[in-house]
Amino acid sequence: MDWDGYRLVLDLGYATLPRLLGHWPDGAVDAVVITHEHPDHCVDLHGLFRMRFYGRPGGPRLPLYCPPGVLDRLGGLEPDVDLHAVFDLHPLPGSYRVGPFDLTGLSLPHFVPNAGIRIEADGIAVAYSGDTGPAPALAELGRGADLFIVEATDHDGETSRPTRNLMTSTEAGLWARRAGARRLMLTHFWPGNDRAAAVAAAQVEFEGTVLAAQEGLTLMLGT
Ligand SMILES: [Zn+2]
Repeated sequence: MDWDGYRLVLDLGYATLPRLLGHWPDGAVDAVVITHEHPDHCVDLHGLFRMRFYGRPGGPRLPLYCPPGVLDRLGGLEPDVDLHAVFDLHPLPGSYRVGPFDLTGLSLPHFVPNAGIRIEADGIAVAYSGDTGPAPALAELGRGADLFIVEATDHDGETSRPTRNLMTSTEAGLWARRAGARRLMLTHFWPGNDRAAAVAAAQVEFEGTVLAAQEGLTLMLGT
């Protein structure tokens, strides 16, 4: 996310770092926010760490907002170096001022601690569920958001599980409606899922614009 030149990156899953470097070749982000410790959300933080640690030794520390387990995972890959040499850690959930943004992380149900993220600037809000089961906090997280990015794993049998840690596209639409969001973007598609079918399922519950996350997609906010 780029706002008046301030660059905030939200989750760094598999192969996201090359795409980030395609936008910003020097990896010069101003802040990183990670929702939870699962590798599909944080594994490329390791590559960014190495760029900073070996490429810019002694450079300014990078603000990192995440649940504590994220740094534990990274520490497993880098047991012999001090991660704090690169990262200025701020634990989630919590609320912070991050450059031009007000950032809020709310706890949401998942297999591991997961922080849903809300970012606001100039009255425009973007919210992102991370991975989550259905939860009332989703309506708070995405309240009136210009863009509500919600996971729609559509895993077989999901709605009949005794404990819910993921959602369907239909549920994503339901929570976007309850939040009063303007636009919904579905993400976290299970391999092989039909993204057009996911959009159609969400549209049954949500009357606003429904988008499917796509690799390389760029969106303007507040337009
Ligand atoms: Zn997860």
